[in-house]
Amino acid sequence: MAASEKVKTFNELFKQRLNRQHVLSLSACAHCGMCNDSCHYFLADGDPKMTPAAKADRIRSVYKGFYDWIGKFVPFWVGARKIQTDGDLEELKDVFFGSCTGCRRCTLNCPFGVDMAAIVGLTRSCLVDVGVAPEGVLTVMKDQWETGNQMAITPEDYIETLEWLEEETQMELDDPDFKVPIDKEGADFVYVINPREIKYAPLSLQAAFKIFHVAGLDWTMGSSGWDNTNFGLFSGKPDLGGHMSNLAYNHAKKLGVKRLVVSECGHGLRSTKWEGPNWGKANPLPFEIISILELMVDLINSGKIILDPHKNTDPVTYHDPCNLSRSGGMTEEPRFCLKRACIDFREMTPNRSDSYCCTGGGGAMSMSEYSKRRLSVSKMKAEQIERTEAASVATACHNCVDGLTDVIKHNDLKYDFGNGKPKLLPVKNVCEYVADAIVIPKELPERKPRVREKVRQGKILVVDDQPDVVTYLEALLQDTGYDVVTAFDGAEGIQTAKDEQPDLITLDVTMPGKSGVSVFNELRSTPGVDKIPVFIVTGDIDFRQLMYQRTVEAPEGFMQKPINEDVFLMTVDRLLETSRHERELTHEPS
Ligand code: SF4
Ligand code: SF4
Ligand code: SF4
Repeated sequence: MAASEKVKTFNELFKQRLNRQHVLSLSACAHCGMCNDSCHYFLADGDPKMTPAAKADRIRSVYKGFYDWIGKFVPFWVGARKIQTDGDLEELKDVFFGSCTGCRRCTLNCPFGVDMAAIVGLTRSCLVDVGVAPEGVLTVMKDQWETGNQMAITPEDYIETLEWLEEETQMELDDPDFKVPIDKEGADFVYVINPREIKYAPLSLQAAFKIFHVAGLDWTMGSSGWDNTNFGLFSGKPDLGGHMSNLAYNHAKKLGVKRLVVSECGHGLRSTKWEGPNWGKANPLPFEIISILELMVDLINSGKIILDPHKNTDPVTYHDPCNLSRSGGMTEEPRFCLKRACIDFREMTPNRSDSYCCTGGGGAMSMSEYSKRRLSVSKMKAEQIERTEAASVATACHNCVDGLTDVIKHNDLKYDFGNGKPKLLPVKNVCEYVADAIVIPKELPERKPRVREKVRQGKILVVDDQPDVVTYLEALLQDTGYDVVTAFDGAEGIQTAKDEQPDLITLDVTMPGKSGVSVFNELRSTPGVDKIPVFIVTGDIDFRQLMYQRTVEAPEGFMQKPINEDVFLMTVDRLLETSRHERELTHEPS
C-alpha cells in the first residue's frame, strides 16, 4: 500500500470506528494530571511525554481535527492535527503499541472516566489494518486466524505434549491409571489453556492435571478450540476476537460439556468470558465459563482437595494481573488459594485493582522492539516485589509470569534459600503452589519421591560462547546418560550440527560473531539440520523475537539463565521424546 493510501485508509477507519465510548474518552480529558502517578511509564523517570493524557493526546489531536469545530478552522488553537504521512503513523505505533500496556490503572484514577484501553484499542485496530504494527503482533494474529492458536502449534505437537504430560503425571503421582482425556463427550468441563503451557511451560498444566485427578473430576482437553488467548483484544480487532472465541465455544458445544474452565490467563479469561460472547455473537452460551481459580476455591471449600501449607514454607507474594483484578474483579480467589497452600503469604503494596502492571501487558511480550523500554520502566513493579522480601512470586496469568520473570532478572531480585547463594525469584502460577501443597488421599496410591527411570539416549549439541556454561551443561547431560558435542560460537555450531547430526541443539542467543538468532534462522533454513529441535538457553530477553517475530518455525524450547537443572532436563527429555515420536510417525530415520 502506498504511503498516501495508508494514511487515507487510516483516517477513514478512524472515523468509521469511532463510537460513543471513544468520543467520551477523547473529549472528556481535562488534563488535570490526576492520573499521571498511575502510569509506570511516567513514574519511571517523569518523562512528561509518558503521562496518560500526553499519550492519548497523540490521537485526541486527530479526533479534534475531524470533529472539533475550532479544530477544523484554527487547529493550532486546540492542538488539532491531521495524520498526513507514514511518519505520523509510525509515531502513533510507537505510542500506542510501545508506550502503553492498556493496563487501565490510569482509568481507575480518572475522575472523568477517560478509558485509556478504549483509546488504545481504537488506534491499534486502525494501525493494524494498514499494516503499521509490531511484527510480532501481526505474526501472532495471522497464526490465530490460520492455525487456531497463537504459537502455530500443530495438532500432532499438541497431542504429543499432552501424552508426554500424561506420562510425567503418572510418574509424579505414581499412578499408571492417570489419563489426560481428550475430546471426552459429556464431561463436566473442558479445560482451555495458553499455548505457552504446551510449547514452553508445561509445569502449570501438570499441576492442573494433578489437581483435577486428585479431586476426582470429570474433565477433558479439547482437540480444537483449546487456545484461550486472544489477540483480538490486543489488536482491537473484534473479528479475530470472535473467531478465537467461537473456536472454543463451538468445540465445547460439540463435546456437550457443562462448563468451560479457563486456565490462569488474565486476558484469556477476559476474552473468553466477558468479551468473546459479544465479539462472536454467541449469546446465550449453553455452558458456564469459569476460571481455574474459582474451580480451585470450590475444590478447597468442598474438601475435594486437602492442602498442607507446610509443603510451601518459603515466603510468597502475589501479583494481581490487571485483566483479572482491574477489569475482572477477581482478586480474592487467588489469595484464598495461596493462603491455604503456603504458610507465609505476603501482600505486595499497592495491590488488587491498584496493582502496577507487570510491564508485559497489551501484547508487549510479543513486541521485542520495545523490550528495552519495557524493562526501563519496570522500577515500580520491581520495588513492589522487593519490599515483600518474598522468595517467589505467584500470579494468575501466563503473560504476567513472563513479564515478571524479565522484571526480576533486569532488577536482579534475589532470595537466599539458605545456602549463601541467592537465586533470582521464581515466578509461578497459583495452581502450581496448590498442586505442591496437595495431600494425596488414601484411596490414591501414595506419592513416592520422583525417580527418573527413563533411559536417556541421544546426542545433544551444546552451543554457547561461555566455556563454563558449556562445561556445566555437558557434565549435567552426560551424568544423566546423554552423549554431548559442543561448540563455542555460531559458525562452529552450524558446522558441528551438519557433521554430527545431533538429536537436539541447545543454543545461546548472545554470542560474539554470529548471534544465536541468526544461527537459529540459518539452522532452520539449511536442509539436513532444519528438522533438529532447538532449545534456546539464554540470558538475553531478545530471544522472544524468535517466538513471536518468526520468519521460520519457532524454537521448540526456551529457558532463561540461570538454569534450573530440573526444568532443563525435563525440557530436554520432552523435546527428544516428542521428536522421536514424530520421526516414528513420519518413518524418518533416527
Ligand atoms: S485524570 Fe482523566 S482527565 Fe485528568 S489528565 Fe488523566 S485522563 Fe485526563
Ligand atoms: S493504561 Fe496503563 S500503561 Fe497505559 S497510560 Fe494508562 S497507566 Fe499507563
Ligand atoms: S500482563 Fe499482566 S499485569 Fe500486565 S496488563 Fe496484562 S494482566 Fe496486567
